[in-house]
Amino acid sequence: MRRQPPAKNELEAIETASCDELTALQTERIKWTLGYAYDNVAAYREKFEKAGVHPDDFHQLADLANFPFTTKDDLREAYPFGMFAVPREQLVRIHASSGTTGKPTVVGYTRGDLDTWTALIARSLRAAGARAGDIVHNAFGYGLFTGGLGVHYGAEALGCTTVPVSGGLTQRQVQLIEDFGPVIIAVTPSYLLAIADEFDRQGLDSRKTSLRIGFHGAEPWTEAMREQIEERFDIDALNHYGLSEIQGPGVATECIETKDGLTLWEDHFYPEIIDPDTAAILPDEQIGELVLTTLTKEGLPMIRYRTRDLTRLLPPTARSMRRIDRITGRSDDMLIIHGVNVFPTTIEALILEHDTLSPHYVLERRTRNHLDELTVVVEACAELSASGEAAMVTAGDALQQHIKAMIGINTMVKVVLKGSVERSVGKAKRVIDLRQ
Ligand code: ADP
Repeated sequence: MRRQPPAKNELEAIETASCDELTALQTERIKWTLGYAYDNVAAYREKFEKAGVHPDDFHQLADLANFPFTTKDDLREAYPFGMFAVPREQLVRIHASSGTTGKPTVVGYTRGDLDTWTALIARSLRAAGARAGDIVHNAFGYGLFTGGLGVHYGAEALGCTTVPVSGGLTQRQVQLIEDFGPVIIAVTPSYLLAIADEFDRQGLDSRKTSLRIGFHGAEPWTEAMREQIEERFDIDALNHYGLSEIQGPGVATECIETKDGLTLWEDHFYPEIIDPDTAAILPDEQIGELVLTTLTKEGLPMIRYRTRDLTRLLPPTARSMRRIDRITGRSDDMLIIHGVNVFPTTIEALILEHDTLSPHYVLERRTRNHLDELTVVVEACAELSASGEAAMVTAGDALQQHIKAMIGINTMVKVVLKGSVERSVGKAKRVIDLRQ
């Protein structure tokens, strides 16, 4: 049986607060954050002064637009501890981003920040259908990456029996799922598919496990990938979003009753969407770059942080806070092939329309005669792998034509045997840059 959503009386009051109540809380908290950052972080003081703004200029939410953005470069310049708003001794935890796009950025948490983080993960897991007493199999990586420890403490706070498996040792993941009987698995979607393959390899039925809920994030994934995961495990697979600069996981999450995008916990994070090129603020429902301001962070307050993640703001549904749409990718993951903008997720969605292909793929970038070339390397499913070279070439041609028809670019498609694309145990690396 799939899980039911939490009853209204199990929710925190703010999850169902009126728009006016939420606006009042956000206004008060942004005012606090601006003053706090200005008083305690030299980099913010300098930025505000350069932009000719002062925290006293903030009276209502629209005034936030007058304050400068913060970027990953600001954090890199302040490496490692320069943006913290409290003396280092008051930080009780340090994490660092996984450095997907360059040098890692360091983030720090006060005791209060950890309490908030824990409460927001507990809230997110509850929204996904988890309850006290459930076993949570946590296969997000433990360590500097925020996924593992972030989910861990929230699951414990909700009263779940938390199994800190971390990523990797895929055979053991299968064994622990079989033996312990978890209801929830927290894991990147790409790694869950590797776990599914391991079930097949061991001759076990992944649809017959105790799992009911998948709690997935840390990387872009598509609706088609969700369908595959739900089909292979007979679970509800829910999308979850966070980033270390803002907190880690626990920023926005899908609610099981609607599964229609990620409710953003607006009592702690204030969202804006901007045009990534001009930085102009875009109205709700238009796709652009997500900008987040933390409302309660003590260790590392973030003002108008440019996430580089592309999405749009949607009206509230299951909760009274706004949602963000599934993230297509980061602006810096975008490939420009023959003048056309392409995200790995665009290719992923097309791959998954081909029954003979698996969701394990990488995109190789090369340059030839100064032009960018893209090769899609995708694994055949078991049946196609067994059908010989010619069938694999035919399947590759079909995908190539499909990409040409849908996106309008010429790519090369290489269909390879099942098991030959390297599996990641955390965030999948989708693009391999082989340009000179
Ligand atoms: P890094 O920036 O080094 O990858 P993080 O671990 O902080 O470090 O990763 C956060 C990023 O992961 C987000 O900015 C976003 O690009 C991506 N991400 C996290 N959750 C999701 C999700 N549900 N969908 C798409 N992308 C996601």
